[in-house]
Amino acid sequence: MASIFTKIIKGEIPCYKIAEDDNFFAFLDINPNAKGHTLCVPKKEVDRLLDLDEETYLGLMAFSRKIGLAIEAAIPCERVGMTVIGLEVPHVHVHLIPLSTMANATFQSKVSLTTEEFEKVAENIRAKIQ
Ligand code: 5GP
Repeated sequence: MASIFTKIIKGEIPCYKIAEDDNFFAFLDINPNAKGHTLCVPKKEVDRLLDLDEETYLGLMAFSRKIGLAIEAAIPCERVGMTVIGLEVPHVHVHLIPLSTMANATFQSKVSLTTEEFEKVAENIRAKIQ
């Protein structure tokens, strides 16, 4: 069965989209650690990061860097953190999280945003993509 992220990539489930290219897709995490928390996903559906072929792995890192730089330009924060977990959704995804405190990296303190706030955050990040 297709993963929830494959359904998002195909447009079967809505998301706050940030960017896509032929191989990768970025969108806002629906339960963010901090405003601007973004997921970068390979369109190829693979469960574990280290099972990606090297080309896809390196491509995912390059794509994530581009999106991370846009987040850093759009969202006030100390820096953008990058983490890969995958215990909830078995489709590789890089979390890009604007960090102001260590709590932003823990996945235990969450922020809630309105639809309008999600849309505005996504728009601001999209505007900074080089
Ligand atoms: P992980 O698999 O790395 O533990 O976490 C999966 C992440 O995906 C979580 O941060 C969760 O909030 C996010 N997530 C799960 N389902 C959805 C969804 O349907 N839409 C979006 N935008 N994010 C999701």
